[in-house]
Parts: sequence; C-alpha cells; structure tokens
Amino acid sequence: MGRMWVAAIGDETLYEVDLPSCCRRTAWGVEDSFDCPVCGAEWQAPLPFEPEECAFVERSGEGERKGAA
Ligand SMILES: [Zn+2]
Repeated sequence: MGRMWVAAIGDETLYEVDLPSCCRRTAWGVEDSFDCPVCGAEWQAPLPFEPEECAFVERSGEGERKGAA
C-alpha cells in the first residue's frame, strides 16, 4: 500500500497515503495518471527510468500556447 504519485505541477512526490483524501479516492484503480475531479490536481505514476527525450518534451510542452479544446 505504498504507491507514489508525482504532481504534474511542481514535481512534488507523495505516497498515496499522503495524498489529499479526494485525490486518494480518485487514485484507486488508476495505473498511470489521473486528474482529481474534486480539487483539480494532476498526478502521475513516477517513471522508473526517465530518458532525456521525455524531459525535453515536457519542458517544451510548458510553453505551448495552443488551446487544446
Ligand atoms: Zn484532489
């Protein structure tokens, strides 16, 4: 019972038990990532290995200005 989640914003890493209760409920049964419908926080499962390519893609994604929807 010790999964970890990484905040999509801020790179904060918390154990599942330390998540806000609303997020913890949402995390149930989630494998990869989720965004909490209650507080809007986005969480993702930490990657065991993070290639440089991924870091670059994430960084360039921050500057994206197009509205997705
Ligand atoms: Zn939440």
